[in-house]
Amino acid sequence: MPEFHYATDADGIATITWDLPGRSMNVLTFEGIAELDGLIDRALADDAVKGVILTSAKKDFAGGMDLNALARMKAEAGDDPARGLFDGIMRLHGVLRKIERAGMDPKTLKGGKPIVAALPGTAAGIGLELPLACHRIIAADNPKAKIGLPEILVGIFPGAGGTTRLVRKLGAMGAAPFLLEGRMQAPAKMKAAGVIDEVVAPEDLMARARDWVLSAKDADLVKPWDAKGYKMPGGTPYHPAGFMTFVGASAMVMGRTMGVYPAAKALLSAVYEGAQVPFDTALRIEARWFTHVLLNPSSGAMIRSLFLDKEALEKGANRPDVADMTVRKLGVLGAGMMGAGIAHVAALAGIEVVLIDAAQEAAEKGKAHSESLLDKGMKRGKVTAEKKAEVLGRIAPTTDYARLSGCDLVVEAVFEDPKVKAEVTARAEAAMGPEAVFATNTSTLPITDLARASQRPERFIGIHFFSPVDKMMLVEIIKGEETGPEAVAKALDFVRQIRKTPIVVNDARFFYANRCIIPYINEGIRMVAEGVAPALIENAARMVGMPVGPLQLVDETSIDLGVKIARATRAAMGEAYPDGAVDEVLFAMADNGRLGRKAKAGFYAYDDAGKRTGLWDGLADHWPLAADQPDLTEVQERLLYVQALEAVRALEAGVLTDIREGNVGAILGWGFAPWSGGPFGWLDILGARRAVDRAEALAAAHGDRFAPPAILRDMAGKGESFETRFAPARAA
Ligand code: NAD
Repeated sequence: MPEFHYATDADGIATITWDLPGRSMNVLTFEGIAELDGLIDRALADDAVKGVILTSAKKDFAGGMDLNALARMKAEAGDDPARGLFDGIMRLHGVLRKIERAGMDPKTLKGGKPIVAALPGTAAGIGLELPLACHRIIAADNPKAKIGLPEILVGIFPGAGGTTRLVRKLGAMGAAPFLLEGRMQAPAKMKAAGVIDEVVAPEDLMARARDWVLSAKDADLVKPWDAKGYKMPGGTPYHPAGFMTFVGASAMVMGRTMGVYPAAKALLSAVYEGAQVPFDTALRIEARWFTHVLLNPSSGAMIRSLFLDKEALEKGANRPDVADMTVRKLGVLGAGMMGAGIAHVAALAGIEVVLIDAAQEAAEKGKAHSESLLDKGMKRGKVTAEKKAEVLGRIAPTTDYARLSGCDLVVEAVFEDPKVKAEVTARAEAAMGPEAVFATNTSTLPITDLARASQRPERFIGIHFFSPVDKMMLVEIIKGEETGPEAVAKALDFVRQIRKTPIVVNDARFFYANRCIIPYINEGIRMVAEGVAPALIENAARMVGMPVGPLQLVDETSIDLGVKIARATRAAMGEAYPDGAVDEVLFAMADNGRLGRKAKAGFYAYDDAGKRTGLWDGLADHWPLAADQPDLTEVQERLLYVQALEAVRALEAGVLTDIREGNVGAILGWGFAPWSGGPFGWLDILGARRAVDRAEALAAAHGDRFAPPAILRDMAGKGESFETRFAPARAA
């Protein structure tokens, strides 16, 4: 079936309309590239055709490249995947360059046919790179449209000429936010930035494109970089102004990425090298760096976890097969930090919310939290006054449990105390209908135990949000022993409504995320006790791709919370409790009033405004630095293995049932080195054999917490990876 349609009219305009069969969004496939190439040839060869409009039959233009096309290029090259990829990318460059030159005489630059891109809606990735090769980009003023090059967010960079063209169009500085941050914006903003040329009312899009084609002159078709005397805006690397930009960009990127993201480095290299050579050579350089990135295991792991698997989970990959459970009215118990956040995101998604606290004042305060977030949004121009009123109108603060009647989901976020939770469960269930689902946002208490307070444990579930609720994208859904499929579906449908990413796990101490975060924090603290330089610990973490070091993390979440969790865990585990050395540090910090950021004193020192000013220099008085410091790699390995091995144990214990959830949950939940695709992605990059060897060495040096789990040993013996061994779960 064709992916592009071709039609000509009496005025000599050929319209190429993209309409990938069976998909709501166009993506450029392996076949599509050849088809488009043929249609461009046809239009250029036909004397009756004066110009071309490239558009889409769907509400959007295109979402990007079909990732299978890249896989095909690799696979079809047999023993030499790099060659296959490079040649495939160069073929694509050839098609886009043909559009750009449009049959013009290479010397006089005359006689080309105008080709205009008419974008009805979103144009992302190759969906913008293709228009950038056209002579004009006209977009419909569609409020839902987002235009941009988001590749960097999944570990690659725009490799179909988008990098080279945008830098030559806007200069390195102007192109930086689009290339390095993957910024996607509405058409009007992209016009203001100079990325696209025109924005028109949706109903005028095609007429305007026709007018432009019919009135275009030879000079309108010549790209600045193909014209004589072209100079790159802002200067090339050896121009005095350009020099500053390139040196600065390099420092900025290294500062932000710590050098762990291969795509950011490769992108900068492509831009830096490409800026110094003619356009066609720059495209070859871009293709080389793009091939380099595609062959790095990090890019494959990031695409898989941050794009494919994340999307699959959001679409309900692990949703039980029960009817739609969309939430219409939500009850939230406890209007503190978490409850207020949950009420806010639900109201934002259009759900009516009854927000209950013990005192009316507290309930009102919870609603005020939503108001302050909306005010911030208004300041940034993201929220209108009407929207604010609408969202706030959906939150009803009260103390009256009777108002829960009609709620089909109730989430409790009261104090972390089983007695208080049992009491509110009973009170809520007395008011809720028999079909409604009750959820707890507990972070530490077993769901199965809390469900004992419920009259209908099959409709009792854990929905664990992360703080701050409005920012954190992961929601961990926890099944108690008796939780039924409808409760799971309800939780998943709710998470879909509020546009977050769910994982579904089984009930065990600390569920999944906290189970892995706590060992990370503890390993950092343990090293302080051993006399490892705190700066080494923190920097090692950042330099291996963790967003915050373990000491900063415990400061943020608060040291008294750490003490509380340590006491409860010790009480539950008795003799088997392994973290005595950690507790000594934690308890001493707490005894000294160093409770973390909220106290403006913790492992870090803070100024009066609460800003970190550096690690607390008193640490060395309590825990003197050891004469021998470990090397960076050893500290990094301790910090990553301690998390990843715990993730493997969670899989082994059946807490996790799908490695996709393990990877996506780790990246979104606590920022596990995103470049690695998550803990299972990281172990697969290492290979099970090497992981087992290193874990054994770490266990011998530092203790049993590093002992490789049986599953990993078994995989090492059989030469398996998590991807191969757990493929059936992925396909399910
Ligand atoms: P919080 O102290 O800020 O809020 C708790 C609220 O519950 C208070 O407003 C309190 O007045 C109210 N409350 C207490 N008893 C009540 C009752 N009987 N009826 C109605 N309201 C009552 O606490 P928080 O940080 O929002 O945490 C709430 C829950 O979420 C806890 O179970 C906690 O473990 C969990 N949690 C917290 C975080 C976090 O980072 N803070 C993250 C995930 C989960």
